[in-house]
Amino acid sequence: MAGHEQDYRRVVREVGPTRFLPGSRVEIIHQFEGRCPPRHALFDFDGTLSLVREGWPKVMIPMMVEVLQATGTDESADALGELALEFVMELNGKQTIYQMIRLAEEVRKRGGAPEEPLVYKQRYHDRLMARIAGRREALRDGTVAPEDMLVPGSRELLGELRRRGVEVYLASGTDERYVVEEVELLGLTEYFGKHVYGAQDDYRTFSKAQVIQRILTENRVDGGVLVGFGDGYVEIANIKEAGGIAVAVASDEAGRSGKPDPWKRDRLIGVGADLVIPDFQDWRPLVDYLWNADEGGELMAFTQFDRSRLRLQPLADRTHDVDRSCMMYPDSPREPFVHAALPELARRIVDGARSGSTVMFCCGAHVLRKGNGPLLIDLMERGLLTHLALP
Ligand SMILES: [Mg+2]
Repeated sequence: MAGHEQDYRRVVREVGPTRFLPGSRVEIIHQFEGRCPPRHALFDFDGTLSLVREGWPKVMIPMMVEVLQATGTDESADALGELALEFVMELNGKQTIYQMIRLAEEVRKRGGAPEEPLVYKQRYHDRLMARIAGRREALRDGTVAPEDMLVPGSRELLGELRRRGVEVYLASGTDERYVVEEVELLGLTEYFGKHVYGAQDDYRTFSKAQVIQRILTENRVDGGVLVGFGDGYVEIANIKEAGGIAVAVASDEAGRSGKPDPWKRDRLIGVGADLVIPDFQDWRPLVDYLWNADEGGELMAFTQFDRSRLRLQPLADRTHDVDRSCMMYPDSPREPFVHAALPELARRIVDGARSGSTVMFCCGAHVLRKGNGPLLIDLMERGLLTHLALP
């Protein structure tokens, strides 16, 4: 179904020990290798980039409690609040209308005659706008800087992605007309341009999965060049299904503490997030990782050791336990050694050298310590080795 958005379904139960990129809060859940560099990036909006709507549950839950109480149920306001909180958070990440569809079902269960979900959605939205009107106004008249209403590091990451030639897109479960306005208020229009997509009154005409499909189809690429950023399960699940890399933004929207929100982290790992970040402040190691890992370069799992603590001794003080007497030359006498693979190995080296192929010799330092240096030099001088790799 075109606009259908799936319910939350945990596909990853447990993850083993995870690690962090050195000196950063970028947590790697799934290591990935051998990928192309990202060329398209999809962002969720609220909670991922924007903090303008922070605190929306404090508007939605009391409204739902009022609606449910109007059915004449004898459940307490606290109990109804708990119930609403549970299903609201369970559905968070989908378009708002899904939470209202569920509200209508709960009204019906209690013998009430529900309004259309769209009516509930409008009522909620009017109240939310009353709460956030001050923030929008403050952004508009410049008394609040966009940075104060953005997840930290957002602009830096977007700038870096643009510098690297990545196309960025925005897909939000919030109504598109408001998303467009708030993108403008936050000064992000220059990054997203026309690539801003959001919910429509007919919720079936929009989904984040559709936006992803459009990106892939219009650019004739597969999900291997797609990276997605989001704090909701829908975008993370959709990105994974498309074969992209999913970066969970477990943002602490109210506190902006720089620590990941544990509820979001667990929930997003559950749908397959590859990386978890609390915000974009560590955008530099994150981008390095996304690009370096693609080039096959694995970053070290440990921080670099402190070289200033080394105690250096003069080379002249060193006592060597080998001397030149151990050197092996092509005409030196040597212990006989026979192995069935040797003639075949020699033949292949000669064939490779004759055909102009690379003949690479990799070994540890013990080969030199045993005095084989002159033999390797001889092979190189005769053109039988083209590359010597030592630790
Ligand atoms: Mg969100």
